[in-house]
Amino acid sequence: MSNPFNNAMEQLAKAARYLEVGNERLEVGKKIELLKQPERIIQVYFPVKMDNGQVKIFEGYRVQFNSTLGPYKGGIRFHPQVSMDEVKALSFWMMVKCAVVDLPLGGGKGGVVVDPKVLSEKELENLSRGYMRGIWRDIGPLVDVPAPDVNTNPKIMAWMVDEYKKLKTQNSKLKITKKNEGPEILATITGKPVDKGGSQGRTEATGMGGMYVLLATLAKLNSKLKTQNSKLTVAIEGFGNVGYFIAKLLSENGFKVVAVSDSRGGVYVKEGLDVEATMECKKKKGVLGGCYCRGGVCDLSYGKTVTNKELLELPVDILIPAALENQITKENAPRIKAQVVLEMANGPTTPEADEILHKKGIVVVPDILANAGGVTVSYFEWVQNRRNERWEVGDVNKKLKQVMDKAVDEVWRSKEKHKVTLRVAAFIVAIGRVLAKM
Ligand code: NAD
Repeated sequence: MSNPFNNAMEQLAKAARYLEVGNERLEVGKKIELLKQPERIIQVYFPVKMDNGQVKIFEGYRVQFNSTLGPYKGGIRFHPQVSMDEVKALSFWMMVKCAVVDLPLGGGKGGVVVDPKVLSEKELENLSRGYMRGIWRDIGPLVDVPAPDVNTNPKIMAWMVDEYKKLKTQNSKLKITKKNEGPEILATITGKPVDKGGSQGRTEATGMGGMYVLLATLAKLNSKLKTQNSKLTVAIEGFGNVGYFIAKLLSENGFKVVAVSDSRGGVYVKEGLDVEATMECKKKKGVLGGCYCRGGVCDLSYGKTVTNKELLELPVDILIPAALENQITKENAPRIKAQVVLEMANGPTTPEADEILHKKGIVVVPDILANAGGVTVSYFEWVQNRRNERWEVGDVNKKLKQVMDKAVDEVWRSKEKHKVTLRVAAFIVAIGRVLAKM
């Protein structure tokens, strides 16, 4: 399995070539050296009370990669395969992502090595609070602001912020009032439920941002796309928060979503899936439980099962990896048939695969741009908490679209100027911003 941090460093090296220019050469080189390691790594071991009365020790990380542009920002992942290198890579990508969309935030990421699917609700809560007890001294509204990622959600964020509040008040002179709870406590974590200080529009923000990026990119690619004047077909790997919302939004906007999957495998309905019905069916029976849904009806005759491997190679116009890292590799890249790959997951394409896709003429919209809608609305949530404001969902989405459209324009200009891929172009824009402030 390809090491995600090494992949991230290869991406940095590719962009660095374009940044090492002029008489600043040495200086820029030194700054780039600094971007090859995180500023801080926090590793915690914490006890969790299990339902059988026993106490189990779990391992977690928080990597604070870089704070040049602002407080560290990044999600918390619960997954058995969480590792230091993975969290380091994800925190690096957060730094780049925040810079691509020009947010005044740095990069961070957290993770706990755990399979949350085998935990009861109470154990999950104990785990979330336990992790917070491990890291709370190192985070805060102006220091480091976590959020959800794979297998974590608004409910988990609510437990975490509640635990943070307890710890903060017990261990400092801070008295919580209506006025300071937003700026001092709630602004410590984003992705909270709306009734607990979360922002309207945050849950769907990553998918929504991805759709805006795709639409803006397609408009620029327009003449180059082979399939015109007909519904563009889409296959989506991963049907969680990000995969579901992008599937829903794209199908509402005229795209034909033909395949979705979860960790066990996926469904392929050539005529186009009914995304809502598929999600309802998944909740009851799992995607593989016959969720071939069209027009509100799920019927076995409508489609077929595909493995995740097969899904990636389907004959579609747009392929959207929305699960985990390293899904498109040098092994399967030659068989990818899509014209556009929209990376909604972080790090789904290895550097070797990236080269192969590029040579095949496939446009890869990189993760640091495609999925930046999540952190953008997380930033809006943080601003609302800091100012004790509540924004309407329409305002949130309007502001999100402005940020994403501007980022696509800037990355596109960089791509044209340097004659590079969208990924290298996005890195040039982002790293340029970080270096300018270092
Ligand atoms: P999630 O836990 O809600 O969903 C993950 C989905 O991927 C699930 O359907 C799961 O079954 C599926 N999956 C897991 N392993 C798989 C495998 N090997 N093959 C196929 N599917 C598999 O997580 P999410 O929040 O939707 O995150 C998905 C990706 O998007 C991650 O890479 C995450 O880092 C990235 N991302 C998320 C956000 C966000 O706001 N949630 C923001 C930016 C990027």
